[in-house]
Amino acid sequence: MAAGDTQRNQLTELLKQKSIDYTFEDAPPEWIGLLYPMLLALPLIIFFIIMLRRGGGAGSALSFGRSRGKMLAEEDLDVTFDQVAGIDEAVEELREIVEFLRTPGKYQALGGRIPRGVLLVGPPGTGKTLLAKAIAGEAGVPFFSLSGSDFVEMFVGVGAARVRDMCSQAGAKAPSIIFIDELDALGKVRGSGLPGSHDEREQTLNALLVEMDGFPTDQSVIVMAATNRPETLDPALMRPGRFDRQVLVDKPDVKGREAILKVHIGKIKAADDIDLKHLAKLTPGFVGADLANLVNEAALLAARKNRNRVTMAEFEEAIERVVAGLEKQTRLIPEDEKRRVAIHECGHALVACSLPGTDPVHKISIIPRGLSALGYTLQRPNDDRYLHTQSELEHRICVLLGGIAAEELIYKETSTGAQNDLERASDIARRMVTEFGMSPRLGRVNYRDSGRSPFTAQVYAPSPEVGQSEQTRREIDLEVKRIIDEAAQTVQELLVGRRPILEQMSKELFDKEVMDADDIRRIMDAHTTSPQLVPGTGVSPSPAVAEPATHERSAERPAS
Ligand code: ADP
Ligand code: ZN
Repeated sequence: MAAGDTQRNQLTELLKQKSIDYTFEDAPPEWIGLLYPMLLALPLIIFFIIMLRRGGGAGSALSFGRSRGKMLAEEDLDVTFDQVAGIDEAVEELREIVEFLRTPGKYQALGGRIPRGVLLVGPPGTGKTLLAKAIAGEAGVPFFSLSGSDFVEMFVGVGAARVRDMCSQAGAKAPSIIFIDELDALGKVRGSGLPGSHDEREQTLNALLVEMDGFPTDQSVIVMAATNRPETLDPALMRPGRFDRQVLVDKPDVKGREAILKVHIGKIKAADDIDLKHLAKLTPGFVGADLANLVNEAALLAARKNRNRVTMAEFEEAIERVVAGLEKQTRLIPEDEKRRVAIHECGHALVACSLPGTDPVHKISIIPRGLSALGYTLQRPNDDRYLHTQSELEHRICVLLGGIAAEELIYKETSTGAQNDLERASDIARRMVTEFGMSPRLGRVNYRDSGRSPFTAQVYAPSPEVGQSEQTRREIDLEVKRIIDEAAQTVQELLVGRRPILEQMSKELFDKEVMDADDIRRIMDAHTTSPQLVPGTGVSPSPAVAEPATHERSAERPAS
C-alpha cells in the first residue's frame, strides 16, 4: 500500500510539473481476477456433473473403465471347431489349448507351464475371432473380449484400468479366455504412435504386460489376441510368457473355401444341386467372412425372387455382386458408347485367350456395374497359385492393355475408359522392376523397402523410397515404360492378326451384353481352323484357349 501511494505521489508531482491534465481511475478489486480461472473450469465441472448423473451414482464416474469388460463376458458359448472350416492347421495347433483349459492339472502335475498368450496372425475376416470363441466353446470356459481400439480412450489411464479390470475378472473365473481383437491398435512399437494417443496406448500396453506377467502360474487364463500386422507389434509383447505362441490364420485355399461354404450353406435352405467345388473355384481370395456374406446375399436374392430354395443361379449372381458391385441395369448407356465398351472388353478377353499363362476368361459383360465400371472381363483361375513367372506377369500386363489396344485398332483413337487398366498395368510393371528383380538394367535388387504388410498387401506406412538416387528413379521409370511399351507392341500385333475375331466377338457381345466361357470358346474355335490366323502375326502360335493359370490369390478385380 505504502509503496503504491508514494509511486502515485511521485507521478502526480511529475504531471503537475509538466502541467498535464489528469484523472485517476481505480483498478478493479483483486478478487475479480480469481473469477477467470473459475469461468474456464465451468465446462469441466458441468461435464463431471453429467458423467455422475449418467453413471447413476458417485462411484461410477470414476470407474467407467470397468463396465465394458463385464458386459462382454460370454459364457456357455455354443461355438465349436466344427463351425470353423478351411483353416485346419490353425485348428490343429489350437486343440492343445482346449486340453490345457479342460484339464490344467494334468499338465501342471508334470511341472509344465501353461501357455499364457496366443497371437493369431492373419488378414481380417479369416475367422480369428471365431477360432477364439470356438476354443472357449469347446473347453466350456468364459470368454472375455475387447478390441484394441476400445482401449484407446479419451482419458489417459482409462484403458489401463480397463485392462486391469478385465484381467481380474478373468482371473476370478479361471479357467477362462481373454480375447483382444486388433492388438496392433494397442501394441504398436512404442515411440512410433501419434503424439496425442501415445501416452494412453503406452500405459495400456504396460498394464497388459504387467497383468500377463502377474497371473499366477497355476491359474489358467489364456490371453488370445488377433492382428494382421505382427511386424508393427512391440517386441516386448512376444517375449516368453507373453504372446510366445503365434498361429497363422491365412486366407483359405480352394479346398478351404469349399469347406467354409459348406458350413454356411448348411445354415440356409439351399437346393440339392449346389456345386460347392465350382463356387469355391470362382472365389479365389475370398476369406471366411466374404464367403459367409456371399451365402447370405444369395439367400436374400432368392427370397426377393420368391424362391423356396436358394439355387446355383443366386450364388453366381451373389458372387458377381460381391466382386463387381451392384448391378445397375437401369443406367442408360448411349449406343455408340456401348459398342466401344464391347470392343474394349473383347480386347481384354481376346488377348487373355491368346496368350499362355493367363487365367481363362470366365465371363465378359457390358452391363454396367457399380459406379464406374461400364463393363468387365472376369478371369478366374482354375486353382490357387503362389508364384508368378516373369512371362506370366508380362502376359497379365498384355491382357490389361488389350482393352485400350482394341479401341485404338477399331476407332483409331482411345478413350478415358482405360484409366484403371493402365494404372494396374503400370503397377505390375513397376513391381517387376523394383521388387521382383525382373529388369536386366536394374538387376536383382529390391528398390522398394516399403512397409508392405505381408498379409494385407497394403502399404501401411508409405515410406519415401529411401536410398534411391535421382538417377535410379529415372532408370526405374524408363524400365517401367519399356515393359509397358513392349507389351503394347505384342498386344497390337496380336489384335491386328485377329481382327476378324475381335469384330465378331464384340458384335455378339453388343447384342447379348453377357458372354460366358462357352460362347467365347465357340467363336475362338470357329476362327482357329481358318488358316489366316497363325503366320505373320508376330505372335507365336498358341492354343486358342490358353492353359489355365492364375493371378494373385487376392480377389481379383475384373479388368474393366
Ligand atoms: P476375424 O476375426 O479374423 O476378422 P471373424 O472371426 O470375425 O474374422 O469372421 C467373421 C465371420 O466370418 C465369422 O463369424 C464367420 O461367420 C465367418 N468366417 C470367417 N472365417 C471362417 C471360417 N474359417 N469358417 C467358417 N466361417 C468363417
Ligand atoms: Zn479395361
